[in-house]
Amino acid sequence: MRASTAVLLALALAVVVPAAQTRTAKPLDVYVVDVEGGNATLFVSPAGESLLIDSGNAGAGAVRDAGRIMAAVKEAGLTRIDHLITTHWHGDHFGGLAELAARIPIRNFIDHGPNVQPAAATDEFLQNTYPRLYATARHTIAKPGLTIPIAGLEVTVVTSAGETIKTALPGAGSANRSCASFKPGENNAEDPMSVGTYVRFGQFRTVHLGDLTKNKEFELMCPNNRIGAVDVLLGLHHGVDTSNSEVLVHALRPRVAIMNNGTRKGGQPEVMKTLHSSPGLEDLWQMHFSELSGQEYTVPGLFIANLLDEPSAAMPVAPMSPPQPGPGAPPAPVHNGTAYWIKLSAHADGSFTVTNGRNGFSKTYAARGRTGTD
Ligand SMILES: [Zn+2]
Ligand SMILES: [Zn+2]
Repeated sequence: MRASTAVLLALALAVVVPAAQTRTAKPLDVYVVDVEGGNATLFVSPAGESLLIDSGNAGAGAVRDAGRIMAAVKEAGLTRIDHLITTHWHGDHFGGLAELAARIPIRNFIDHGPNVQPAAATDEFLQNTYPRLYATARHTIAKPGLTIPIAGLEVTVVTSAGETIKTALPGAGSANRSCASFKPGENNAEDPMSVGTYVRFGQFRTVHLGDLTKNKEFELMCPNNRIGAVDVLLGLHHGVDTSNSEVLVHALRPRVAIMNNGTRKGGQPEVMKTLHSSPGLEDLWQMHFSELSGQEYTVPGLFIANLLDEPSAAMPVAPMSPPQPGPGAPPAPVHNGTAYWIKLSAHADGSFTVTNGRNGFSKTYAARGRTGTD
């Protein structure tokens, strides 16, 4: 109903004011929702079709995060989620799923297949809860090369279950100069399984690789860059330094990166240096101030969407060393109060606008001519 109304409207506009069509055409909207160092990224096509990548945190965070996703869903005027990709089976990516599915219909559940990092709560969810959620919907196991049908967009899975696309996307495939200096990284079992998704809308391109880790970035991007250049790099594994190698970040040449970091998750110096030295990067936007960045490495607060529940004094200049994980670790600063998204609105000519929901700061990036896609 929504879609056909939008199509009729678009046709009417095209007939009446053809010259203004590109300016009045609806954008692709992307809401990067604050789920406290987890992931929830909502794509809404010009015709109102939707793709949600991940559903926030498990446990005490599930109700909060599902509520924050629903706030974006309402803002976008959605009555259902057409496609939901769970990038991998970590609690900061699928944790709010049952809570969310109770609030809005989800038509197609997409994932990489079985969990490869056994964990009691995850395996219980996969055995008992998840099948119940997709019982009345579709369930799709993603393979590299899979196309997700959304009218007006090209949505392609580029990584899943540890596999990558073997051939370059159209227009991509040139040699990647960063490959020679690549240093392998360490990782857990599930992060490298991440479903990675490439989205093209006209001249606008973006990619979200979940928590894909360095060794898989190398497999995807070397010796040839199979993705090409993107306008916006989304996610960045929260800005964690087991991901975000130069073979990925520098070769993608993003104009803008939007990092889904937490108050003390991601944004470490190594990642920030890779980003700040990335060729052609115009701005980095962050979900949160991160104590692991300190003032030394972070961007101006204008580009940061969320603060803390307890008003804090100025962020220290020096980055904090991550505390030893475990029961003795000091808790990260809490943010359970009002949360703000970062909204991206992209047009088919390649221009786009990014808006910080907290302070209203908005910046438009003009379309630029392409000499090549790499
Ligand atoms: Zn927050
Ligand atoms: Zn994660």
